[in-house]
Order: sequence, then C-alpha cells, then structure tokens
Amino acid sequence: MDATEDSLRKALAEKQSAVEAQGNAVRALKAAKVAKAEIEAAIETLNALKLEKSSIERQLQAAVSGNGPDGSVNREAFRQAVVNTLERRLFYIPSFKIYRGVAGLYDYGPPGCAVKSNVLAFWRQHFVLEENMLEVDCPCVTPEVVLKASGHVDKFTDLMVKDEITGTCYRADHLLKDFCNEKLQKDLTITAEKAAELKHVLAVLDDLSAEELGAKIKEYGIVAPDTKNPLSDPYPFNLMFQTSIGPSGLSPGYMRPETAQGIFVNFKDLYYYNGNKLPFAAAQIGQAFRNEISPRQGLLRVREFTLAEIEHFVDPEDKSHPKYCEVADLEFLMFPREEQMSGQSAKRIRLGEAVSKGTVNNETLGYFIGRVYLFLTRLGIDKERLRFRQHLTNEMAHYAADCWDAEIECSYGWIECVGIADRSAYDLRAHTEKSGVPLVAHEKFSEPREVEELVIAPVKKELGLAFKGNQKMVVESLEAMNEKEAMEMKASLETKGEVEFYVCTLEKNVSIKKNMVTISKEKKKEHQRVFTPSVIEPSFGIGRIIYCLFEHSFYMRPSKAGDEQLNVFRFPPVVAPIKCTVFPLVQNQQYEEVAKVISKSLTAAGISHKIDITGTSIGKRYARTDELGVPFAITVDSSSSVTIRERDSKDQIRVNVEEAASVVKSATDGQSTWDDVWSNFPHHSSGSTED
Ligand code: AMP
Repeated sequence: MDATEDSLRKALAEKQSAVEAQGNAVRALKAAKVAKAEIEAAIETLNALKLEKSSIERQLQAAVSGNGPDGSVNREAFRQAVVNTLERRLFYIPSFKIYRGVAGLYDYGPPGCAVKSNVLAFWRQHFVLEENMLEVDCPCVTPEVVLKASGHVDKFTDLMVKDEITGTCYRADHLLKDFCNEKLQKDLTITAEKAAELKHVLAVLDDLSAEELGAKIKEYGIVAPDTKNPLSDPYPFNLMFQTSIGPSGLSPGYMRPETAQGIFVNFKDLYYYNGNKLPFAAAQIGQAFRNEISPRQGLLRVREFTLAEIEHFVDPEDKSHPKYCEVADLEFLMFPREEQMSGQSAKRIRLGEAVSKGTVNNETLGYFIGRVYLFLTRLGIDKERLRFRQHLTNEMAHYAADCWDAEIECSYGWIECVGIADRSAYDLRAHTEKSGVPLVAHEKFSEPREVEELVIAPVKKELGLAFKGNQKMVVESLEAMNEKEAMEMKASLETKGEVEFYVCTLEKNVSIKKNMVTISKEKKKEHQRVFTPSVIEPSFGIGRIIYCLFEHSFYMRPSKAGDEQLNVFRFPPVVAPIKCTVFPLVQNQQYEEVAKVISKSLTAAGISHKIDITGTSIGKRYARTDELGVPFAITVDSSSSVTIRERDSKDQIRVNVEEAASVVKSATDGQSTWDDVWSNFPHHSSGSTED
C-alpha cells in the first residue's frame, strides 16, 4: 500500500505538471490566434489530462483514507457503524452519562461485561493454567514509596503542551501525529519527498525527546486544534492519580498505574511458594489508573482500565524456555526496529528465525510473543491485522533488553494492545535497594566451588588522619574500585609505597600510602550463586483487545427482503456474550414448554443463553441476537425435535429435543466445530424458519 501510495503521489505530480503545460499550450495557441480546430484539439487533450488527474486523485484518496477493498466504506463510517451498535446494544456506556459523562471513563453493559469476563477466563486458561502461573490480587491504592522505587513518581510522564491563551492541555506527540496523518491523507498536493518525511516522523514519533518534539511542532507551525492559539513548549506531566492513605493526609499514595509492582514486591514470598525454583511466572488481573492528558479514541485510551499482566522470572544466564519449540514454527507479521527506521513495512517472519538471528533477544521472550499471537488469534483477532513491533532504541527503557508490542490494526490505525518486554533485573533491584529486603534467587551448586574474592579494606584511622573531613569520600572511592583498578593500586603501593588516586566526589587526586589500605584476593568456597532474576513481562490492555475484537468481528449483511443492512458480530463461541438463544417458533404453550425444558438443560450444562418467547417474527429475533454475536439459535418448531441455526452461515440442522443442549455445548466449548455438527445431523432447509 505504501508503494502504491508513493507511486500515486509521483503520478499525480507528473499529471499536474502535464495539465499545467497543456493549459499553457492552449493559452499560447489562443494568443497566436491559430485555427479553431487546432485550439479545440488542444483543449480536448487538456480535458483528457484533467480526467486522468482526477482519477489518480481518487485512487490516492482511497489509498490514504483506508477505504475498503470495494472502495466504498471508509474507516470512519465503519467505526461509526460499530460504535453505534455497541452503544445501542449496551456493550459499553459512557460512565456517568446522565451527568454528561467524564472523558476517558466507560462502563461495560451486560453483553460487554460478558465478553470481558469470557476474554479474562480464556486468558486464565491460556496463560495461568497452561504455565502454572501464580496468580495474585493486590490493592489498587499503592503507597508512594513503592512507586518511588519503581521510578513512576519521577518518570511516569507524557509530554504535554498547553494552549498559551486558554490553558487547554494536549499530548504533544498526538498533535504532531495528527498533523502528519492529516497532511498525508488530505493534502494530495504534497510531494513524494514531503510524504516520506512525514512518514518518517510518524515512524520515529515515540523516539523523540521533548526538545525534538517542540522543534517539530514549531517547524510545522502546529497550533492548538480548537482555538488556533499558539502552544507552549512540551513539558512532562505525571499520569498517576494521587491520593493519601488514611485520614491524616501524611501518607501519600497513588492509584496504581499498572499491576506489576504488586507482583515485584511479593517476589520473596512467591519464590518461596514456588519451592525456591526458577523460572516461574506470577500473574495479576486488575484495574490500572492513568490520568491521560486528553483521552480520545473511545475505549482505546481511557483513564481506568483492566490490565492482565505476567511477570515471568528467569535466570539472566539462561533465558531458554522448555516449551519454546511449540511456538518456533509460527509465522506472522513482525516489524523489527531496522525495518521501521528504514521506512519498510512489517514482514511475515518465522518466530524461530527471528530468535535464532537475535532479532528477538531470547527464547523466553520469543515464547511469549508466540503465545500472545495464539491468544489473540484464537480470540478472533484477524491475523492479517496483527503485527509485533519492536521498540525503537530510545522508546525502550534504558534497562530493558528488548521490547515488542502486539499491535492490532483497527479504524484508528495500529494500536498497541500488548507490551512484551524483557525488563532485565531492574524492578527487583530497585525494590531491593529501597526496601532493604533482598529480592534474589539462589542457585545451589552440587559441589562447592572455589572462588577468588577481591577484598579492599581501607584503614579508616590512617585515612582520617590524612584526609579529615574528606575521609568518608576517599573510603567510598577506594571501596568502589573494580578488580583491575584495585590490583594496579596494590602493585604500585608495593613497589612505590604511595600512589595518586582520583576521588570523583572530591574532583581531585589524593595521595594514598601503603598503610592506608590493604588489598588482597581471598579464596573461598561458595555453595550457591545468589543473583537477581530477570523478568519478562507480557502486559495486556484488556479493553483495547476487546475493542479491536469488536471491530474485527463486525460485519453487515442484507436482510432477506434486501431492504435493510443487518449488523452481525462474528464472535467465536469462546468470546460470545451469550452462546445460544431459544426461540419457540410461534407463541403456543406446547412450544414454550419445550423451550423451557431446553433452557433448563442448557443451564445445567453451563451454557449462557437467552429464551425469547415474544411473538416477534423469527427473522427479527435472529437479527436481534446476530447483533449481539450469539453463535447458535435453537428454534422450537415441534414438540419432539428442534432446529439449531449457526449465525454466520445461517445453516440449520435438526436434532431431538433431548440432544439440543449437548450439541450446543460441544460446539461452544471447542469439542466440535460447526462443520462437524453439520456433517453429523440432518439438515433443515430454511423454509418458514429462515430469516
Ligand atoms: P504500558 O505499561 O504503557 O506498556 O501499557 C500496557 C498496556 O496497557 C498497553 O499495551 C495497552 O494495551 C494498555 N493501555 C495503556 N494505556 C492505556 C489507556 N490509557 N487505556 C487503555 N489501555 C491502555
């Protein structure tokens, strides 16, 4: 698509020049008062060129605005159709709606709640159960010290700009992103070179510093979108909601911005619970709070959302994974850092190849990328609109070894839905340092190992006499020497008795004498290795996944009469909010009794269902539940047998009343597919019960 877009831009520029040249030619002919026929021929050529130019313009418009393959439905119209259906059917509701709502806060209504709980149940099955993870549930309110240690108090910020007159706040990178996208999509006159520049800015957006962002905003003349007023320079805004714990107001706290910290602070106990063995993973599902600067994009950027996070603790010297071979052959869209920087697009890569070439840092990270791919596609995310994008170097935290985001394409573009990061030992080290509790693991050796240990022993009395008030700083500098420095000092002291030594905290050299420090290497036996584990963290934004799933599942089809378009969500049974409906074909007591019997057996089989005994036409009842994504409908049209209709094909089979619940159960819990059911039961031709 990018290649098409580029060549269309070039073709448009050429055609524009040709139109201008021909226009000039026509004017010249007229001025020269040549024969009428000659002028008319030139005008005809001009008109033909203009037609060609508008055809290219249309193609370019379609290429940049993301129109569907038939060129008819654009992204915004599609989104509007999805969102209207979601809101009308109460999948979600803007929170506090009767008070005109609050930006960035949403409620899930009944079908939305059911979808969410299905997604979470599948997440538990796919990750927690499969990997024997240790699930925890920690408070949302978190004392300041925890988030100070993790770095959130100082660094959990986004860059903000303010309207210099009204004070309205905007996210700086969003304004730049909107500017670039709008230019690319709406201004067909920009050159291919300018388009390439804007695309590069979009590619490196997450990599830009405050200064670089500010410079671009100035260069492009970006102003406040609502008022066109000038903007301030970008500056950091902390996204955490602050609170205080207890009535005194003396104990500051925050609503957690992620669930991970609850796991890190429990590492010692969880490690013990796991029999002091690595690797192991802990998991947590819970609410996270971020005071987003200007929430937009509906459910995608909100101020309170559900996160599902995994912290997989592993020995930094061995990041292999026993089940890696189960995912190594998966092939999907990956977008490594180099490809992004050089303006290429994502490509299909075999996961095993990405790991063996070192594009993905290690096997465990690769294993989780593969498991996330399986999780999302089994939920119903379209694999052609799912890619794994590697973080750019500056985008990644300095301590991280490697990071990949699972991005899903929807009408808002590519959206980060899951972050998968190798955070090395950063978090456990940070909490060890702040709390004084060692968050470490041990590797017991089968045989004790002899090791040489460097021992630096400053003689404080002599150093005190020599350096008085500076003694402490000299002692600290001596103790901080690495092995090479210490052994060089030892050699010099032995030969010369004195050595010049630079103390960085004093910013000068001091003279160290032989009696001021002893340096030796001592042999000792070690029975174990003590180390801080690395952590590999897949972090799932559940609301974002659900919204993308809504878009990927939504389609419209004509009603039987062809007079209206009906909405359908093609949720797989595992996600569908209700698995089955039960409809007596017509209102009569006999059919209603049968419907109640079937409803009872569905309840006993644990199948969520809805019974509808209204007299509405069966076609309307099907349409109403197709719009909720209900995969199966049982229609009672006799007292001995019933039909089961599948939502997307609208195919129907006939089963005995007693079998109905078990057929639906096997098709919804994955024991059989609709194709199996279709080949095992008599078919029912649509006739009177079809919509
Ligand atoms: P992060 O810790 O920033 O990597 O976020 C982890 C995940 O949370 C992301 O991959 C998103 O799916 C999700 N997420 C982050 N911010 C928001 C938000 N404001 N609204 C909804 N989901 C979010």
